[in-house]
Amino acid sequence: MGLDEDALDYHREEPPGKLEISTTKPTNTQRDLSLAYSPGVAAPCEEIAADPKKAYDYTAKGNLVGVVSDGSAVLGLGDIGAQASKPVMEGKGVLFKRFADIDVFDIELDQDDTDGFVDAVAAMEPTFGGINLEDISAPECFEIEDRLSERMDIPVFHDDQHGTAIITGAALLNALDIADKDIEDVEVTFSGAGAAATATARFYVSLGVKRENITMVDIGGILTEERAAAGELNHHHEEFTRDVPEGDVADAMEGADVFVGLSVGGIVSQEMVRSMADNPIIFAMANPEPEIGYEEAKSARDDDVIVATGRSDYPNQVNNVLCFPFLFRGALDVRATDINEDMKRAAARALADLARQDVPDAVRKAYGGQTLQFGPEYIIPKPTDTRVLFEVSSAVAEAAVASGVAREEIDLDTYRERLEA
Ligand code: NAP
Ligand code: MG
Repeated sequence: MGLDEDALDYHREEPPGKLEISTTKPTNTQRDLSLAYSPGVAAPCEEIAADPKKAYDYTAKGNLVGVVSDGSAVLGLGDIGAQASKPVMEGKGVLFKRFADIDVFDIELDQDDTDGFVDAVAAMEPTFGGINLEDISAPECFEIEDRLSERMDIPVFHDDQHGTAIITGAALLNALDIADKDIEDVEVTFSGAGAAATATARFYVSLGVKRENITMVDIGGILTEERAAAGELNHHHEEFTRDVPEGDVADAMEGADVFVGLSVGGIVSQEMVRSMADNPIIFAMANPEPEIGYEEAKSARDDDVIVATGRSDYPNQVNNVLCFPFLFRGALDVRATDINEDMKRAAARALADLARQDVPDAVRKAYGGQTLQFGPEYIIPKPTDTRVLFEVSSAVAEAAVASGVAREEIDLDTYRERLEA
């Protein structure tokens, strides 16, 4: 049977869907029930009314993330609407649970007005310890996230933007090291100027890439000042416009050290790969088909190119599950009010450092055949490597405490030990 049929059966099997609610306290006796609900439940209500922080002590808030979408940019399927996006949002819940034991309510909002969407999500703050915005189209996603982060006192994180940025940030740090290039000198070309590319370019600047060394290309070509002046670009593009002649992806790749593809499949040729600088780095992440295939990019040059794609059947897979569960775990465990830039950088550095350590046998076996040793074919860890949990979560928690967004100061050594157990 094909994958589609299998997937339909998987979802349809009783009970339909992939998630359910379960209870965590005894509910056997009349006494248990009068503690769980009326009249006993009034006591924690009063505690929280007197001190809202106590919601973290007496409710599931602190381990509950809202995965919220309007269904406007779902996977590669596009604007399929809120209802049709529900399998994806439930799936995100499965990944949060499986990788970091975080519970999720998936919230599909039939609301295409930005003000209405922001108001609806902001009003849900009492329920959640954090909000993962998902599959919301650009450029609305930027404004939605900014406004919600401003209004809400819990982390708001648009995974399609920042998850991608953090993982490819880790990949960049390691690839630059292997290619012996300095982050302050590299010329980086982005194909795509949407949600993922914009956030990734911003994060690269935050890691040390010079803004003036970034060239960004969308479907109309290089983002130039001329195009901006002609009113072709939105204001999120303007921070990456360059005073260079107009051109296309091929022009922008010539001489570049790093190519980051977050656009569409099949638009990069071997010729373009050959036109790049020595020891080039190529992250071709359009899904399901990359801008250029792993083998095609590799064979375009004499072994001096480092390649990553979104594909699971080749080395260096960039898959968001390598970040969001662990990032949220760390943020929730210190009851963070935000996921800030320090926490994102800490996550990227923890991922980069982990890829430099020896890989346990169990992980190696699960990826039979692949070389899992720091080098061109292994620049980021594998998501099923159990060490990602304690390395990334503890680094994020530590950064949250150090940057002053933790509501709870925890002992980091004890925390790390708890995660490792
Ligand atoms: P998006 O917001 O729709 O952005 C897509 C961008 O690609 C737009 O700027 C678009 O330009 C540009 N584009 C389209 N065709 C192009 C072409 N022929 N040449 C140059 N640019 C072109 O989508 P997104 O969420 O950022 O995602 C972009 C891609 O990255 C998708 O394929 C997605 O699956 C992939 N992605 C992969 C990962 C991963 O591997 N982990 C993570 C995130 C995203 P216009 O604005 O001018 O149309
Ligand atoms: Mg997504």
